[in-house]
Amino acid sequence: MNRTPLIAGNWKMNLDHLQAIATVQKLAWTLKDARHDHDDVEVAVFPPFTDLRSVQTLISADKLPIRFGAQDLSQYDSGAHTGDVSGAFLAALDAQYVIVGHSERRTMHGETDEVVAAKTAAAVKHGLVPVVCVGETGEQREERGAGVVAVEQLQVVLDAVQPAEIVVAYEPVWAIGSGQAATADQAQEECAAIRRGIAAAWGEEAAAATRVLYGGSVKSGNIAGFLREPDVDGALVGGASLDVQEFAAIARFRQHVGL
Ligand code: PEP
Repeated sequence: MNRTPLIAGNWKMNLDHLQAIATVQKLAWTLKDARHDHDDVEVAVFPPFTDLRSVQTLISADKLPIRFGAQDLSQYDSGAHTGDVSGAFLAALDAQYVIVGHSERRTMHGETDEVVAAKTAAAVKHGLVPVVCVGETGEQREERGAGVVAVEQLQVVLDAVQPAEIVVAYEPVWAIGSGQAATADQAQEECAAIRRGIAAAWGEEAAAATRVLYGGSVKSGNIAGFLREPDVDGALVGGASLDVQEFAAIARFRQHVGL
């Protein structure tokens, strides 16, 4: 199965809407100058909610081949949920993706696996592709070993949602923003375990079609190692996605190593 790699930039709570416009423009020009083939490696950005309308307008007016999504959504469609944003609103903005279950949402906003499953279902319902984040803390890895927590977290989602297009991002919490990325071997081991979990729950075909990303301190200097692994289909990039040259270099990973 040929899975198109996805390089996804999670801007977190950085860049206002004016900075977002400048950043997306610069990213598009940088990739165009480098003759980047967006059908070969897909590039997506995940700006804060307040930037999305500006990013959508720019992308659609200039027909930019960059895709975009939100960093979160509500599990509800509408109603008394102050501060939350419905998947219906994101779909109306032509967002293609939405991140769900990022570890910062799980820890800072108390999102449980069940909430993450409900948000995944809401995304699918509104025609968005959820980027479902799973991953263990350093403590959990020491106590329970590799390939356990991420698969368990994903299992709750797979049990609650009918087979659909999703992207899974394996993001070990200890690697996020720490500068200490997992090794390519560790990423492969976890991504392969995740794929086996999808096969068990949704069948081999779904497992073969689902893109599984690695995330955690990805940079242009380490991306090629991850993408050489058979079960790693791209990267969810945090800090390095704010630097256009660096993010474009990550998206251009094939050029560094002739992959
Ligand atoms: C993230 O927040 O999803 C992430 C992977 O961050 P960083 O690349 O900065 O480790």
